[in-house]
Amino acid sequence: MGRLRLIGKAISIGRVTEKYPFAPIEVPEGFRGKPVINPDECIGCSACANACPPQALQVYDDLKRGIRVIHFFLGRCIFCARCQDVCPTDAIRLTKEFELATLSEEDLHQVVELQMVRCKECGRPFDTFRHVIYLAKELPPEQRTMMFLCPECRAKKASKIISFAKGGGKIV
Ligand code: SF4
Ligand code: SF4
Repeated sequence: MGRLRLIGKAISIGRVTEKYPFAPIEVPEGFRGKPVINPDECIGCSACANACPPQALQVYDDLKRGIRVIHFFLGRCIFCARCQDVCPTDAIRLTKEFELATLSEEDLHQVVELQMVRCKECGRPFDTFRHVIYLAKELPPEQRTMMFLCPECRAKKASKIISFAKGGGKIV
């Protein structure tokens, strides 16, 4: 392409560079920036941690305090958005934030702590209140009390009920 044609084309297209970082830059819709958890919406279901390929999200239970901890470490994140895709309450969203450099490692962590519910039979904390209530809403009212038992006690109770039914109403 001749020099004059090139200049003409450049003039017709206009400026294509951005003034960033001297002026703010608008990122496109769907941009995958820093994930942030909304602590008011999170139910502590662990779906995000199970789906996160580099384990940037981890969920663990502090049984002494009866607290479930959802820990996000930005330093491991690959911005794949799988956490956002699987979260049942839209509590974790990828933002448009991309300026992530920091002098303090603390800025790379987000911790959400949720109160756990204790099993009505054995007293062990086994799930968060929010998750139990979220799941209980899907059940008929007569089955909701079972949600307040840990999986082990629930299984024991269910097998007793089955034995009772098989025995024609007698404990077997
Ligand atoms: S965006 Fe991907 S890597 Fe980052 S926290 Fe979510 S699932 Fe994990
Ligand atoms: S998937 Fe959503 S609701 Fe479940 S623990 Fe992760 S952020 Fe919280």
